[in-house]
Amino acid sequence: MSELKYFAWQGIELMIPKDWDLAVDAGNFDNGYFRLDDYVKPRLEIKWEKIKFEKAPTSDKLLENFIKSMEKNLKKRKIQTKVSILEKQNTKVAEHDAVLAYVRSVQDALIVAWYCEKSERAFIAQTVFPAKEYDNQKKAFNTVIQKLMCHTSDENITWSAYGFKVKIPALYRLSNRKFTSGLSYLFFMDPKGYNIVSFGYSSMANVILKEYYSDIEEWFNELIYKKNLKKIGKFKRKKEENAQLNRQKHEARVLYLETYGFISKFKNYMVVYLWNCENLNRLYFLLTIIKGNRTKAKDLATSIMKDFQCH
Ligand SMILES: [Zn+2]
Ligand SMILES: [Zn+2]
Repeated sequence: MSELKYFAWQGIELMIPKDWDLAVDAGNFDNGYFRLDDYVKPRLEIKWEKIKFEKAPTSDKLLENFIKSMEKNLKKRKIQTKVSILEKQNTKVAEHDAVLAYVRSVQDALIVAWYCEKSERAFIAQTVFPAKEYDNQKKAFNTVIQKLMCHTSDENITWSAYGFKVKIPALYRLSNRKFTSGLSYLFFMDPKGYNIVSFGYSSMANVILKEYYSDIEEWFNELIYKKNLKKIGKFKRKKEENAQLNRQKHEARVLYLETYGFISKFKNYMVVYLWNCENLNRLYFLLTIIKGNRTKAKDLATSIMKDFQCH
């Protein structure tokens, strides 16, 4: 099997083969789904749902429900194939009791089901494949599942995909994301919806700066500020400075902005880091917006940037 890399999404951390990455992503921390593909096809799907601790299901029950939903799905599509469990064994995932099943239907699948009492989420991880690939798939699946982590005691959640790795306070939940060849970004919001953390990038930095925008600030203004932030309020610039990103050895431009108004508790304070990552040829931004607290906006941006890995 190829070399492994770290992947983290919605509080799930994995070590995956280097040529896998996020292909489909839906939902949120409580109820969601993602799929990891390599260049050829889907390799791993994980779905999860919030179930309160008092109602914690057994792994067998989770598996049973999942098989039922597979059967329902086949029926709906008028496919006459049965779902049969060829093999089933108890196992552990991140110290939780889990059940691993080898299932045959239209295709073969390896499915593992477990309940995480720490994050109060029920998980199903599955890989689907033609029967003749069983040996290879089982090996890859086991390697990934053995190192899977579904909870953390850290007050941050790590997000790592497509070459970046960043820690965002767990309080902030993913509220919006976009992955396109021109621009990718993630928006996180606190439960009240007042405060925001966001970061993202455009690839082909050299071409963008030569042909589309005069500098990184214009890029940020046109693609992020005007399209996503203006609705929060009209921001004016109060200060700007350069900062050395020690971890990545890039130089960043740091902007301090705030909305108009007299009463500071009603104002929004924004701190923006902008930098060019030559290693991946990307233009990056990271920003924080905090309502009513300039210092908090700055401290939050500083602490996230301390650990931000852009390449
Ligand atoms: Zn867990
Ligand atoms: Zn970089």
